[in-house]
Amino acid sequence: MSNLLRHSAVLLLGVAAFLTAGAQTPAQLAARSDVRSILDTLKSDNAWTLQQQVALCEIPAPPFKETARGVAYKAAFEKLGLTNVRVDAVGNVIGERRGTGGGPTVVLAGHLDTVFPEGTDVRVKNENGRLTGRGIGDDCRGLAVVLTTARALQASKVQTPGTIIFVGNVGEEGPGNLRGTRHLFDKELAGKIDYFISVDGVGDGLTSRAVGSHRYRVTYKGRGGHSYGAFGIPNPAHALGRAIATIADLQVPVTPKTTFSVGIVRGGTSVNSIPFEASMDVDMRSESAASLTALDAQVQRALRNALAAENARWPKAKATDHLTMGVDTVGIRPAGSQPDTARIVRVARDAARALGWTPELSASSTDANVPIGMGLPGITIDGGGRGDGAHGLDEWYEDGPKGWLGPQWATLLVLSLAGTK
Ligand SMILES: [Zn+2]
Repeated sequence: MSNLLRHSAVLLLGVAAFLTAGAQTPAQLAARSDVRSILDTLKSDNAWTLQQQVALCEIPAPPFKETARGVAYKAAFEKLGLTNVRVDAVGNVIGERRGTGGGPTVVLAGHLDTVFPEGTDVRVKNENGRLTGRGIGDDCRGLAVVLTTARALQASKVQTPGTIIFVGNVGEEGPGNLRGTRHLFDKELAGKIDYFISVDGVGDGLTSRAVGSHRYRVTYKGRGGHSYGAFGIPNPAHALGRAIATIADLQVPVTPKTTFSVGIVRGGTSVNSIPFEASMDVDMRSESAASLTALDAQVQRALRNALAAENARWPKAKATDHLTMGVDTVGIRPAGSQPDTARIVRVARDAARALGWTPELSASSTDANVPIGMGLPGITIDGGGRGDGAHGLDEWYEDGPKGWLGPQWATLLVLSLAGTK
């Protein structure tokens, strides 16, 4: 290389490319050579992305015990040279890519937690490209997409006016009740997030509406006793059965989709005992806050009626033999929607179109429920590839011939939002 050429090369490297605040569409951005080269990097680094997905997945992350996976995620953020890398008060791992100023703040998040309890075998099997492992799609895929997006941006000279904040958040799954994302919006990044994107699961779809949920643990309690000797007193398991029978027959609207399920029942100590306690976990969901509230009222009535009916069934029982009922809230997630014309939804669709497909819009229960419930721009995108069996022991993921489209989508979306006002 001649001296002149060498100098030019150094000069070129020294000049950072700026995404200007000229409202470039995703298609326009994707046509720029500097952005194109980021997208190409994501494709050529696909094996690295998959490695991260597997490695993170083999670190257990039961609900409320995401620390070990969080430590690895934080180390990865530090290695990429993100700034202000930290773990917040609830365990969210956060790293920033500073903007040049004057642009919106965009959060790109994946969730650290799984539904699997401690002691679950989390080794990932790879059979001809099919990865089988607990949480491999939900949400090791999202974590890998966030990480590889950060890596590709860090390796590039492209700068954005807006700051991009990468997050591995805790508490997305049921028992976590979105506590990680709630904390981001209520405390850690309160008032600072202009756009929130969660990458959750597999496929190429887009969640823009929030399915709300009400979840309760219902417990009937009584004196209990010998099934033969104490016969004639109200039975908590029977009260529970009455409640379940009524709930099972409830009618709910098809549109907006509204659902209910008794997911867990427990109680009792032996076949020849009247249990002193029986309980269940009930889940109700709807896209509509009004439908959810109406269903909730019906379920509460069924619970009270079951208690009254079981106590009335045994008129000779003493008042002290009567059952009591407790209803504990397991989780309340806000329902809500934003129009398909909302900027974040449009840009996400346009980014996918620029890469070759039109994503389907759907409603789901994800970390984006938090911003959507607050009336703020938030969506959840799939992480690419395909798979099935989320929350089950046979969960699998296949990257297929174009798994890298997931990271490309996340990247183009984030650049489009952070690069324009
Ligand atoms: Zn998930």
